[in-house]
Formats: sequence, C-alpha cells, structure tokens
Amino acid sequence: MDGDWQPLPTAAGAPAARADPSGGGGDAGERPRGRFERFRSTLVARSLAVGRHVADFLYPPVCRGCGRFVQAHAAVCPSCWASLRLIERPFCEVLGVPFSHDLGHGILSADAIAHPPPFTRLRSVAIHDGIARDLVHALKYTDRTDLAPMMAAWMLRAGEGAVEAAEAIVPVPLHRYRLWSRRYNQSAELARALARLSGRPMLSEALVRQRRTAKQVGLGATQRRDNVKGAFRVTEAGQPLVFGRRIVLVDDVYTTGATVEAATRALKRAGASEVTVLTFARAVTVLI
Ligand SMILES: [Zn+2]
Repeated sequence: MDGDWQPLPTAAGAPAARADPSGGGGDAGERPRGRFERFRSTLVARSLAVGRHVADFLYPPVCRGCGRFVQAHAAVCPSCWASLRLIERPFCEVLGVPFSHDLGHGILSADAIAHPPPFTRLRSVAIHDGIARDLVHALKYTDRTDLAPMMAAWMLRAGEGAVEAAEAIVPVPLHRYRLWSRRYNQSAELARALARLSGRPMLSEALVRQRRTAKQVGLGATQRRDNVKGAFRVTEAGQPLVFGRRIVLVDDVYTTGATVEAATRALKRAGASEVTVLTFARAVTVLI
C-alpha cells in the first residue's frame, strides 16, 4: 500500500480560485494613489503574515484525523494517511470498484456489464472505513465544513481530469426541510470546494430533491431504490444550464448507488450529455 508520508494537496497548496473578473481596472494613471495602494497592500500582506504566525502559535496545525500536531494546516498525520484505504487501479472503469488483481486495462466488473448504471463513471477517493469514515462523519454531522477543501483536493485527484473537463459541478441536494434542520449540505460543501479548486462552475440550485425521503441508512438495496425513485428533478431555471453539458455529480459517500442513480436520471432527463459521479468515500464489502 501507499504508506509513504507525503505532503497532500491542500487548500493552501492547490491552485488558487479564479480572481473575480469584476475586480481591478481604472485608476491606473493616478500615481500618488497607486503608490499609496501599494503601500497599503504591503502593509496588509505583512500584517496578515504576522497574523498567521500568531494564529499558528495559538492554534497549531493538527491532524484532521486524530488531532495530533502536524506541520501544515489542512493535512493529516502519517499514521492517518497510511490508514486511508485509497482506491487505486486496478478497478472497474465504470463503477470504480477495486479489483483484487490486475485483469488488464479497461476491464469492467460483472456488475457494470449486467446492470449498466445511468452515469458514465464513478470515482471515489477511499474505502468508507477508518479515517475516511471519520472525515465524512465530521463533515456531515459535526459542522466541520473546514474539512471540505482538503477532501475536495483528494476528490479532484481521484476524478482523473473529469472535474476539469466538466462544464458544471452539481451536488446531490438535500430536501429543503433537511437542509433547514442541518443548516448546510455536506455534498454542496464538497462541490463548492471542488469548484474553487478547478475553476469549474457549481450549480447549487439546478437539481432539487422534490420529495422528502426516509433516511437511506438501514434500508436494503431495493428499499433504497424505491425510497429515492423520482425524488430529484432539474428546475426550470436549471434546464438550460444542464442541457447538453458534461456534469460532475458530487456526493460524500457512495453506498448502493440508489441516490446518485436517481439524481443522474434526473440530470439525463434534462439533457445532460454525460454524468461522472464523484464521491469522497465508497462502501466496498469485498474486493472483486
Ligand atoms: Zn492523524
């Protein structure tokens, strides 16, 4: 396994978000003001640098997994990194499910052949286990939205270019009642961070959950499928943004696939040309 400690792509180390095109412009000819602006921005930059040192002293960077001290913010320690079961090749090109041994390039799992999913491909960072499960749980239930940029950086890599090639990033939506009680949608946090890292637009309101569904936890595969059937739709305003577009659909965990399949069908009905499903973790019981 990939046990070597290496600096991970972090929010700070990742490509910066695109600058706001509305900014800048004007005032180029006013020299004294320009000098003042330069002085002011230097002062602000120095103050921020001092502020960061003070912040590091007061809040030293800790591992996002176990809380031990680490060298940089937005990183995990070597032992947590080693315990992350990353999903790497060989895997099924469609379902992304890892194979126990290499069967050659482009091989599909029996499941992908027997039951082709509505999406083009599914990619995930890690097996939903250990620290991966802890991170998902922390993001979802304990308000740790600060974890999203780090998790999204790993998702960007697991997507193998799918995010960069997409024309829109769409999070699996929560029903508005659940959003109200939870206050934020963990999938939207991941999608927003992915949009920031890749410069691709996020559509936060194009896809909606039109029906309240029971929680999927504890349901079997068939019950899960029935539970989310017809639960999603693309809004009227979202139709032109989805039609003919390559979409990356973002969720935190892939379990039986019922949710992302239902969401993909709604996107396809609205004319999406291709849907790649990208999740942080995926439940895998046995290696094929
Ligand atoms: Zn750790």
